[in-house]
Amino acid sequence: MAVFSKIGIIGGGISGLAAAKQLSNHDPVVFEATDSLGGVWKHSSFKSTKLQTPRCDYEFSDYPWPERDNSSFPTSKEVLEYLYDYAREFELLRLVRFNSKVVEIRFVGDRKATDLGDYGTLLPGKPVWEVAVRTDQLDTVEWYAFEFLVVCTGKYGDVPKIPEFPHNKGPEIFKGQVLHTLDYCKLDEEASTQLFRGKKVVVVGYKKSAIDLALECAQANQGPEGQTCTMVVRTLHWTVPHYWVWGLPFYLFYSTRSSQFLHERPNLGLWRTALSNLLSPARKAVSKIIESYLVWKLPLDKYGLKPDHPFEEDYASCQMAILPENFFTEADKGNIAFKRASKWWFCEKGVEFEDKTKLKADVVVLATGYDGKKKLKDIIPEPFRSLIEPPSGMMHLYRGTINPLIPNMAFVGYIESVSNLHTAELRCKWLARLVDDEFKLPTVERMLQQTNKEMEIMKRTTRFYKRSCISTFSINHSDEICEEMGWTSWRKRNWLAEAFSPYNSQDYEEEK
Ligand SMILES: Cc1cc2nc3c(=O)[nH]c(=O)nc-3n(C[C@H](O)[C@H](O)[C@H](O)COP(=O)(O)OP(=O)(O)OC[C@H]3O[C@@H](n4cnc5c(N)ncnc54)[C@H](O)[C@@H]3O)c2cc1C
Repeated sequence: MAVFSKIGIIGGGISGLAAAKQLSNHDPVVFEATDSLGGVWKHSSFKSTKLQTPRCDYEFSDYPWPERDNSSFPTSKEVLEYLYDYAREFELLRLVRFNSKVVEIRFVGDRKATDLGDYGTLLPGKPVWEVAVRTDQLDTVEWYAFEFLVVCTGKYGDVPKIPEFPHNKGPEIFKGQVLHTLDYCKLDEEASTQLFRGKKVVVVGYKKSAIDLALECAQANQGPEGQTCTMVVRTLHWTVPHYWVWGLPFYLFYSTRSSQFLHERPNLGLWRTALSNLLSPARKAVSKIIESYLVWKLPLDKYGLKPDHPFEEDYASCQMAILPENFFTEADKGNIAFKRASKWWFCEKGVEFEDKTKLKADVVVLATGYDGKKKLKDIIPEPFRSLIEPPSGMMHLYRGTINPLIPNMAFVGYIESVSNLHTAELRCKWLARLVDDEFKLPTVERMLQQTNKEMEIMKRTTRFYKRSCISTFSINHSDEICEEMGWTSWRKRNWLAEAFSPYNSQDYEEEK
């Protein structure tokens, strides 16, 4: 028999926590599949994983980090501690059901997905969704009914993305060990060092996790017994050593109102769109300034690691990785090597590339990312499931939160920014006011117009647009959220700060 409550939240990472806090007056039920809060900070982190956003940009508006001006980057353990402290401070733990995995969702409301018109109220007083929850201890499934659901299952973690291989060229023919980063995250410090020590390791990938992993491998291989860790790189990305460029703070280039003025934003009107087009050379110049610094500072030419695409495209798709200290020192020592290859497959003794060269390996680690959409598709029922991955590859989410064609359901954490915590919190503040009927959503058509505009901008800005990231127009995104909530959108004390200082969570403290 279904247990009935008003609001259900699926996932206890930062998105689920932000939703729980903002909707806490409705006593929502939070289902978390594992025994911990924190999502990726608990389950998709290595011993060296650190926050790469400065801590003052990755904090809840009403809960500053202790030592928030400390410029070092917190470890994943410290991020977890911060999240638990936050949950305790605002009594959120009482709302969370751990070891409770949502395995199925059913629509029991009246609306049809194709209804175009008024979106209606979010709390209609009767169940709209039924949710099947499997609990670890009992290994049983229990059904719950909700008027409104907030889905926060995360874009990363949980489901590995595994490359496809030609017949007879997959991991089954390899005599060594193959694992995905998700498996590696489960190892303790001793086991992870043992896995790599004295072994020929291949790390597939060149994003943040792959880079951190290669460094951990190099560190386990110090001394005469040490072996080289080879990174197999298909697509290069820009990496940055720190948040300074030619002596200027990095935020000046992308995180202030004046810097984002150079970029396309939705709803600019004719004149401002024309101005933004005129400013396109300035945008390119900013990207070039950063590229010139990175090529000067890092041995990218030496190792053939200079990407062909502009820096801006990585920034606009939230793929900019902060390089861990000593990464290139280890490469210079010969402990990390790089192999560019667009196609590769397994052979008995290692991996083989399209140029017919082979690389011997004892261990191959796939740092090939996660399939966050699968997590959604596994639980969202038809006809809504097909809206999760439309032909464009991008999900329509109004204000990054509401799919205009899925009734009484919100999504938090799927459209990224450079500080996902800040964005998740602001969107949840907006969502809480929406649930409380403080404002109404526009018509479905208007919402789709808005999401289409945002997608068009992403498509024009970066070839990696399917990652759905708003980093080049994040302030405009927050402005529109504030305006809809009836808040002031320009939130700095004076025009100088408005133009040249970065926006973060503290700027969006509650307005009474
Ligand atoms: C290694 C790494 C480093 C990162 N560094 C940064 C950074 O520096 N700055 C930044 O802004 N972002 C960073 N990110 C992005 C990061 O994903 C977000 O910042 C944020 O932590 C995502 O939180 P989330 O709650 O949306 O998702 P998650 O953290 O993935 O949490 C989702 C939660 O939902 C649970 N869940 C999933 N499916 C179900 C289900 N069916 N039923 C119940 N529960 C379920 C999971 O167990 C998990 O706890 C990083 C990501 C990774 C992987």
